[in-house]
Amino acid sequence: MAKLKTKIPDWIKKDVSLEQSNTFRIKTKTSYLAIVSNKKQLIKSLQWAKANSLPFFILGNGSNVLFAGKKYPGLIIRIRNNRIRKIDSQTIIVPAGIMLELLLGKFIKMEYQELEWVAGIPGTLGGAVYGNAGAFGNEMSQIVKKVKTINTETYKEKTYLSKDCQFKYRNSIFKKNKEIIWAVEIFIKKGKREKIIEQARENRNYKTQRGLFKYPSAGSVFKNIYAKEVAEKYRKQAKIQGGKISAGWFIDQCGLKGTKIGGAMISDFHANIIINFNQATAKNILDLISFCKEKVFKKFKIKLQEEVIVIHY
Ligand SMILES: Cc1cc2nc3c(=O)[nH]c(=O)nc-3n(C[C@H](O)[C@H](O)[C@H](O)COP(=O)(O)OP(=O)(O)OC[C@H]3O[C@@H](n4cnc5c(N)ncnc54)[C@H](O)[C@@H]3O)c2cc1C
Repeated sequence: MAKLKTKIPDWIKKDVSLEQSNTFRIKTKTSYLAIVSNKKQLIKSLQWAKANSLPFFILGNGSNVLFAGKKYPGLIIRIRNNRIRKIDSQTIIVPAGIMLELLLGKFIKMEYQELEWVAGIPGTLGGAVYGNAGAFGNEMSQIVKKVKTINTETYKEKTYLSKDCQFKYRNSIFKKNKEIIWAVEIFIKKGKREKIIEQARENRNYKTQRGLFKYPSAGSVFKNIYAKEVAEKYRKQAKIQGGKISAGWFIDQCGLKGTKIGGAMISDFHANIIINFNQATAKNILDLISFCKEKVFKKFKIKLQEEVIVIHY
């Protein structure tokens, strides 16, 4: 490791395992890890990485990433902040580092509805806005009013109106620019507490019953396919939801459920989920990803696209 030019801030730790920082539970390490809870720490961390010519990566809860290397050669920055502020009767401002389930808990306490669909999604708000996460026909874009960011080069703050976030299916402008999502203004709507709890429970139970929490995974590996891109004969056989066909349907049609490479397996409960059933390596998972892509392309002439973000180092 090259000699550092500036002193390590005390919130940055050296040589840290990332096994508990990714839901695939891949055993990998990072040279440096910063857990930041305020803007000053975030900007100082970015400046420190720059001063020492180190790459950096912003991590939420690591539930949509695959770390594909032995040791990240730079600084992983995790944002952890939970304090929400009410602006008016229609809006609250929420820090990006809050876990979605914790936010849902706060919504239930305050009797706000329309976040029940995040039950069982083990990510942060920042990660969910970045990828426009969604479930049960809902997605982040529907509740976001504004996104407040910090630029990773100029450290300047900026506010994006929802219409400028370029939200699309599992996509947003933040996948392209150099902004860190710091806080999000969310629309709120009063509801009945019992109803909200019941709906959240139902959504979580659905995922539990499908076996989603039994083994380490990162949820869906591939993006679903727009039905219009699919040959008509398959469109007739597959279930179309919101104009899309589940990527899992194509993988399942190739008979790949249960296929194993090393400790990784295409789950037998959902073909779009790869699980770490026994000490899988990132390579095991990457090999299964390639295998799925190859088989689906051969049979359907469709190019599967990863939803999971692969970080090579
Ligand atoms: C059991 C399980 C169930 C899941 N169910 C769903 C589901 O129903 N729907 C769904 O959409 N997803 C689902 N996922 C995937 C995942 O939980 C979501 O995509 C989640 O929103 C990712 O958030 P995260 O904080 O873990 O992001 P991470 O995985 O940490 O990061 C993902 C990307 O976001 C970027 N990022 C994170 N925070 C910020 C920030 N503050 N500013 C800028 N960039 C940032 C990272 O750099 C990275 O590129 C599931 C995953 C699991 C394991």
